[in-house]
Amino acid sequence: MSADETRIHRKAQPGFRWEHVDCVNYKEDGAAPFKAVTRQVLFSGAALDGELRYFEVAPGGHSTLERHAHAHAVVILRGRGRCLVGDTVYEVEERDLVSVPPMAWHQFRAGEQEPLGFLCLVNARRDRPQLPTADDIARLEAVPAIAAFLRGAETDGS
Ligand code: MN
Repeated sequence: MSADETRIHRKAQPGFRWEHVDCVNYKEDGAAPFKAVTRQVLFSGAALDGELRYFEVAPGGHSTLERHAHAHAVVILRGRGRCLVGDTVYEVEERDLVSVPPMAWHQFRAGEQEPLGFLCLVNARRDRPQLPTADDIARLEAVPAIAAFLRGAETDGS
């Protein structure tokens, strides 16, 4: 469901929620490539060329590893964690900015102790995400820091 663009002011609620904004739990079914992620669409509608969403990854969880032709502009709003963008793993914390370029593999992971919440700006009209093939995974895992990241290890083991 899209955000209610007819409301000028929607109050912030405790726990990184907002009035009149649905909080959607991503389904988890064994094969799901994400874990413990919720999504709230904050701004969306015909008068905008973009959408602003708030995603929150629970401790130990992660977003989908994916790539697509559209870009993401991300602002970390809550907690800390790490993200993979392209071929590099970054430590991120509140108020950091992350740019995800077109066709860059990307994934966000919360640490074991804290959630990771972030605003994500996207084009309203965008292509569907692509998931990695086994060959894509093998290429990514050839980089030790990325292999550790994808395993959910807290450090790269070095
Ligand atoms: Mn994406």
